[in-house]
Amino acid sequence: MDLVSSCKDKLAYFRIKELKDVLTQLGLAKQGKKQELVNRILAFLSEEQGSKLHGLGKRGSVGKEGVAKIIDDTYRKMQVPGATDLASKSHSSSDFNPLRPKDEIDDSYQLNGKVRCLCGGTIMTESVLQCEDPRCRVWQHISCVLIPEKAVEGAQPEIPSHFYCELCRLSKADPFWTTFSHVLHPVKLISSGGTSDGNNTLQTVEKTFQLSRTDREMLQRAEYDLQVWCMLLNDKVPFRMQWPQYADLQVNGIPVRVVTRPCSQLLGINGRDDGPVITTCSREGVNKICLSRCDARVFCFGIRIAKRRTLQQVLNLVPKEPDGERFEDALARVRRCVGGGNAVENADSDSDLEVVTENVTVNLRCPNSGSRIKIAGRFKPCIHMGCFDLETFVELNQRSRKWQCPICLKNYTLENMIIDPYFNRITSLLQNCGEDVNEIEVKPDGSWRAKGEGVIWELSQWHLPDGSLCTPKEEDIKPRLEDIKQIKQEDTLEGPHTGLRIGIKRNAMESGK
Ligand SMILES: [Zn+2]
Ligand SMILES: [Zn+2]
Ligand SMILES: [Zn+2]
Ligand SMILES: [Zn+2]
Repeated sequence: MDLVSSCKDKLAYFRIKELKDVLTQLGLAKQGKKQELVNRILAFLSEEQGSKLHGLGKRGSVGKEGVAKIIDDTYRKMQVPGATDLASKSHSSSDFNPLRPKDEIDDSYQLNGKVRCLCGGTIMTESVLQCEDPRCRVWQHISCVLIPEKAVEGAQPEIPSHFYCELCRLSKADPFWTTFSHVLHPVKLISSGGTSDGNNTLQTVEKTFQLSRTDREMLQRAEYDLQVWCMLLNDKVPFRMQWPQYADLQVNGIPVRVVTRPCSQLLGINGRDDGPVITTCSREGVNKICLSRCDARVFCFGIRIAKRRTLQQVLNLVPKEPDGERFEDALARVRRCVGGGNAVENADSDSDLEVVTENVTVNLRCPNSGSRIKIAGRFKPCIHMGCFDLETFVELNQRSRKWQCPICLKNYTLENMIIDPYFNRITSLLQNCGEDVNEIEVKPDGSWRAKGEGVIWELSQWHLPDGSLCTPKEEDIKPRLEDIKQIKQEDTLEGPHTGLRIGIKRNAMESGK
């Protein structure tokens, strides 16, 4: 179907309201009967087509694609009333209050069953996949968003164990940006395939997007920017931007640099591309964006009005200490890591072997800053007990955008970050100590004391895990043998936990040394 007849079809569905919307955006008169409004739009469309065909495109002319885009956008809004607004609202709802479980449930309820797909379609089919973000839960067509590993005709893509839609991936990729609105909805960049000699051909996609006066006014404000983003559809690192090889971007004819690496170089597993800001090359009305690339993989890109978050705003997204993890869970991890055994696991054992487990020295230096941790941050899924300084880490990731645990090197998102209730209690108690106090001794039961010359007497005494002072009796200072006597010696020395223990002694918080 050609452009004009497809526009005609859509216009047939429009009410006066939508027709007037389109006329306003095109700068045309809005008076007249319904059919007159339709005719005016169609006349404008064929005029635009004519001027383009004859090379007479005048300055400020939107082009027939521009008109078609306006009609298409209006049509989409009709099909899914409020879907776009809802999606962007739910993506940014954490801005205002990260703990709004009631609202989140409302949002997911409203969006449940909604299809929002890269193809632009909203029809529910049999093979769909749901975004697992609880605030999103949109459905997407499997054939549109999953790429088969091998480019074989008819190959079925494997269903991943975790799936996030491209917009959730985008918002998790960089919490220092939050989406205000999408001015160009995600566009799928189909593989440019390959020629017989194995070289990819250069492919170009041209799109138009509309900025209203309100949008432009919004973009005048310091914390708002117009950002173009791009992602590899089946990226092994899901929460990052990535641009295709030989990407060449132009906005209204102005070249925009998308990556700093050489254009032929692939993005490594630890690399992170950025979303260039195109505020200054955009204008009110219709804008043109043109992206060329030479890459066999499938990408998607889009343009959004994004709002910057300050470091403090991002830090505020990390749950408060009691909301991140229960103290008992943190203590259990420390006992497991230090004691190396699990009393419950061995409760059936009739062995009466007594094991004297040594105390472990834990370094409280942040692996990033090299100084003693002020606020003990960690990623909740990590099994090691090592922490890092929360503020230093978040500040570093404003630039690196890696969100990688400095201890086990796993990749996470800000949403996985918590304050370690066990170590944060200790670092808070140590906050007035000198800089040279960086080590504590930890017993298998989780009690601890500060080490070093400059430690005040009170902190050099054994403290219970909760930070209260142990009663200074001789028997409390000895390891509590009755707690650990059921641990078999072989479990501690040769059993499955040995590797973990050695790993902890070597790694725990000491990499900053
Ligand atoms: Zn689709
Ligand atoms: Zn999603
Ligand atoms: Zn880790
Ligand atoms: Zn104390």
